[in-house]
Amino acid sequence: MIPMVDLAAADPALQREIEEGFRKVMASGRFVLGPNVQAFETEVAAHLGVAQAVTCASGTDALHLALRALGVGPGDEVITSPFSFFGTVEAVRQVGAVPVFADIDGATFNLDPQRVAEALSSATRAILPVHLFGQPAALEPLRALAGRHRLWLIEDCAQAFGAARGGHAVGTLGHAGCFSFYPSKNLGGYGDGGMVTTGSRDLAERLRALRNHGSVQPPLHQSIGLNSRLDELQAVVLRAKLKRVDERNLQRRRVARAYAERLSRLPAVQTPWEDPGGVHVYHQYTLQVNARDAVRRALASRGVASAVHYPVPLHRQPALADAYREQRFPVAEAVAQRCLSLPMYPELDDLRIDFVAATLEEALAAG
Ligand SMILES: *Cc1c(COP(=O)(O)O)cnc(C)c1O
Repeated sequence: MIPMVDLAAADPALQREIEEGFRKVMASGRFVLGPNVQAFETEVAAHLGVAQAVTCASGTDALHLALRALGVGPGDEVITSPFSFFGTVEAVRQVGAVPVFADIDGATFNLDPQRVAEALSSATRAILPVHLFGQPAALEPLRALAGRHRLWLIEDCAQAFGAARGGHAVGTLGHAGCFSFYPSKNLGGYGDGGMVTTGSRDLAERLRALRNHGSVQPPLHQSIGLNSRLDELQAVVLRAKLKRVDERNLQRRRVARAYAERLSRLPAVQTPWEDPGGVHVYHQYTLQVNARDAVRRALASRGVASAVHYPVPLHRQPALADAYREQRFPVAEAVAQRCLSLPMYPELDDLRIDFVAATLEEALAAG
């Protein structure tokens, strides 16, 4: 079986570094928000080229904290994509704001800036683009819109650590960048984790208080916050993996090129389009095909895993659907029917890529 990801793939040097770090943490007795978390925040900020990095417990919390720290709440509208992981919209609802969807571009899978402009209202407070599957969203027009209408631009970078737009890393182009370190993400820990990046020292201070029960200087609590902290063991893993993430993103791009060479001649398959304005880091390698579910079954029967991200657009999720029953986002809805992600991880070699491509060709012929 060729899996979607191979999180156990062995790297002895990485393993030694992490085990050594774990031993030191266990001996120190410092487990939450300690020296490794502090060092990771400094290192990751330098790596991305941003002034401030504030870690937290998950990517969803990163979005929640960013929205809260920017004062987005009840009565405010946040424009976002209907084609994303549920966490994007969950955070908007957690702070009491109203998600307003704008349709996506069918080639990039990301927010269509024209549709965002049409969705603006007097209640809009923020635009929340998602860099889906590792492809940076078209941030230049969104920045211009945000500037013109005095809106916050909050980037959902959960799938796009290391992606860039116009030479700048995602997470450095909006007012806040929100990252997830869930194990399968391009930079992943051995558990949950997240981070908000920002150029603003003020915002970073508010984030640091909010993630730690709203406390600036214990024992006083200035606001009602969250318990959303990164632990030392995760920080050890993330510090070690940060050193290797650029190389691993290059490997993902190599896998994507190899897939494209083999698949772009198949007329029934639409391979991912790479926006030349950005650097795509291929969190997922996502095709569009007709009769997607039959193709998936045929792949599975021949030992090739595949996945559908995402079969149900956000405005059709049971938790939200009542409010959006009358709304249609035709591009997102069509893509949700046709999207199919193939195995994608840095260790995927040419032999396996050949096998996946040949198997897909057979599956299409059989269907
Ligand atoms: C993974 C993900 C999140 C949520 O991150 P968690 O760490 O799982 O909370 C949010 N948005 C997108 C696009 C994601 O892929």
